[in-house]
Amino acid sequence: MRDPRYDILFEPVQIGPVTARNRFYQVPHCNGLGHLYPRGEACQRGVKAEGGWGVVSTQEVEIHPSSEWSPYIEGRLWDDGDMKRLQLTADAVHAHGSLAAIEITHNGHASANLYSRIPPMAVAAMQFDTMEPMQPYAMTRRDIADVRRWHRRAALRARDIGFDIIYVYAAHDLALPFHFLSRRRNTRADQYGGSLENRARFLRELLEDTRDAVGGSCAVALRFAVDELAGEEGITADGEGREVVEMLAELPDLWDVNISDWTNDSLTARFGGEGFQQPYTAFVKSATTKPVVGVGRFTSPDTMVSMVKNGALDFIGAARPSIADPFLPKKIEEGRVEDIRECIGCNICASGDMTGRPICCTQNPTMGEEYRRDWHPEKIPPARDKTAGVLVIGGGPAGLEAAMSLGRRGLRVTLAEAGEQFGGRALRESALPGLATWRRVADYRLGQLQKLTNVELFAQSELNAEQALEFADSSGAKHIVLATGAEWTRDGIGRARRAQMEDDGSMKVLTPDDIMAGENFKEAGAALIYDDDHYYMGGVLAELFARADAEVTLVTPAAEVSAWTRNTLEQAHIERRLRKLGVRIIERHILARIRGGEAELQHVNGGGAQTIAAARAVMVTARRPREGLWHALSKNAGEKIRVARIGDCLAPATIAAAVYAGHRCAREFGEEIDADAVPFKREYVETGE
Ligand code: ADP
Ligand code: SF4
Repeated sequence: MRDPRYDILFEPVQIGPVTARNRFYQVPHCNGLGHLYPRGEACQRGVKAEGGWGVVSTQEVEIHPSSEWSPYIEGRLWDDGDMKRLQLTADAVHAHGSLAAIEITHNGHASANLYSRIPPMAVAAMQFDTMEPMQPYAMTRRDIADVRRWHRRAALRARDIGFDIIYVYAAHDLALPFHFLSRRRNTRADQYGGSLENRARFLRELLEDTRDAVGGSCAVALRFAVDELAGEEGITADGEGREVVEMLAELPDLWDVNISDWTNDSLTARFGGEGFQQPYTAFVKSATTKPVVGVGRFTSPDTMVSMVKNGALDFIGAARPSIADPFLPKKIEEGRVEDIRECIGCNICASGDMTGRPICCTQNPTMGEEYRRDWHPEKIPPARDKTAGVLVIGGGPAGLEAAMSLGRRGLRVTLAEAGEQFGGRALRESALPGLATWRRVADYRLGQLQKLTNVELFAQSELNAEQALEFADSSGAKHIVLATGAEWTRDGIGRARRAQMEDDGSMKVLTPDDIMAGENFKEAGAALIYDDDHYYMGGVLAELFARADAEVTLVTPAAEVSAWTRNTLEQAHIERRLRKLGVRIIERHILARIRGGEAELQHVNGGGAQTIAAARAVMVTARRPREGLWHALSKNAGEKIRVARIGDCLAPATIAAAVYAGHRCAREFGEEIDADAVPFKREYVETGE
């Protein structure tokens, strides 16, 4: 039974000519499926509708090859041939009674057209923001007329497909109408440049065109970034952002508002909490009578209710919370709030799009696998043979997910963990600055495990091979799943160097594990963080030390600090924070040796030697799988017991990869797997008419 306090979230809301069945709105988000994997795209959006999102939107859908995102995978509506692919999505969303929205867009110079090879056009001639060695040309009046016609045509096609809500996209500093609005980009001298009214002309025209084309049957939504966090130079919520909303207030049927660019809109938990966009978007409701949707990584139903009651939003917009838990609305509706799999704000989902591959999620291992592997976020088929007992060793992300999912399949599971608490690295790392939400990986699974009477949990139970076999024997378990994790190494071997580092012992050498195990990092003396891992750990530890007033130097062989976090949209935020904290950053250098209390650095391309005096060095380099138990069991388990290893103890990777490994292990348990077959369905591109 649903808590009556949440009733307001389930009220229907009218959007122009259509009505959403509730206030849960999955705003457009990329998923790396799009035009290449249309069944995958449709199935994933359908699952969101099934999970109760009253409106489910596509990602960006390109309207013409003169603005295409290759090698990134978005939607495409270039011609009639694309309609049947998008039809799959509209139908999948409608099958569950939700409204289907589509975000059609022309992104001008934001896309380099690497596939179509059409010279990119822009509001004005300018350099690309990225380092592409090409320069877009300034749009002529004819180009503007062309884009308007293509947009109108795409809107008509979207209507004919059956989409209920059609977007005009002007956000993220990506979409062409946003470039027209931008003072720093729009240097035109015609009636599309100069005053704000002129700069807003193109956006107004697109809105009017779309209304005119599809207005009677579809709602027209405007996605607009009210602030770019670029100060005077950019659109600001108390300046031109507000003026645009006031100017166009009643023209769209719905305002979908956020902040720009994507790195600000999708802030990770390290840089913004739930509802972080409210200070910027709060004014919009007072400037229009039309419904307003906004985002802010909302996962708490109480916060959602207060957003609606306080008149801040009409719809609870979500990308990431709907990725982590496609069934979030259903769980609130059914009074199962404690079952919500809360987004941890890590942006592993964004890294899918950023690296040109289908989406994945730390909390939701089924994300991206809905179609090709038939994985449903809430359903898992019962095991064929429920008498088979399983012993899972290691209660980190991989072990917890495996135990939970095996338990849900009805198997008898025992989970043994060496530590006092379950959670493994998710728990350990959650004590580091900005990573508190990592705990949710453990908390969600432990909460669910409590409900499973067929799963027993034992903490403080470090098992050796003999004990594991003895236990398996006495409990009738014929399967042992090892999820014993990995540990950071201290010998300097990593990506940049494959041989052990010279070390005369004159400096205290630590690993992230030492710090997380309680090593006193507050002790006096300068610290050197050597980061050859390039994800978050190096930057997080530099922050930890700097906040404890240590003098910190971060050395990395990469061209920038925490380089891989470009894929989680965090790199600039991390670097700014570290610089603000006074961390000295030395890029493109290898830690060559430690001698006489000094670290000797070398430029990655030779020469450029320099030394740094420090009291301690923290090596954030490689991780070594904890595989001792695997080797011992492989020798001694014999024929009767099957042993498998998953997660970091097999191949150290992200928490998302460990959760995925645990889930896959449970799904495949007891199933006949043909090792020679492709393990998932593929989608083939048509080879002809
Ligand atoms: P993953 O990310 O693959 O889940 P983690 O390092 O987060 O890996 O978790 C591994 C967990 O396994 C840790 O909590 C660790 O304490 C536990 N562990 C390691 N070896 C043993 C063992 N021999 N017996 C029981 N638990 C173990
Ligand atoms: Fe949230 Fe991380 Fe999942 Fe993205 S990957 S939805 S940020 S938990």
